[in-house]
Amino acid sequence: MGDELGVGEWYKAKRKSGKQWVPSYVEYIDENRCIGCGLCVKVCVGNCYEMKMVPEREVTVAINGKQRTLAVKKIAILVNSDNCMGDCHCHKICPVDGAAMVCMQAEDNLLYKLEKSRRFR
Ligand code: SF4
Ligand code: SF4
Repeated sequence: MGDELGVGEWYKAKRKSGKQWVPSYVEYIDENRCIGCGLCVKVCVGNCYEMKMVPEREVTVAINGKQRTLAVKKIAILVNSDNCMGDCHCHKICPVDGAAMVCMQAEDNLLYKLEKSRRFR
């Protein structure tokens, strides 16, 4: 059942060129890499993030290829990841090399796989 959709086909979209585009959804934020800049909160169209105050601590990350140690007093947290549209704006804007948040294409997403197995049972 569900094969008429083609497994995994329902969430895919196309670019203007007609090429396929696969969204990549936020999974979690690595708290040890977030420097609290707040840019992800500003760009997120799904309102998935909020900033949270934390006890001040030093975080060492690479930014533009250079190791930096910064005093961090707040971090981004995920408050509404179910609303993620998979556009990757947060991942692009995060100044930390490789980004502090981890996003996955739906095919790689364990929750998606569970949901898919439930839908196609
Ligand atoms: S991928 Fe888009 S909607 Fe999802 S958390 Fe990032 S900015 Fe928000
Ligand atoms: S953009 Fe990156 S470093 Fe800045 S608050 Fe968001 S997760 Fe943290």
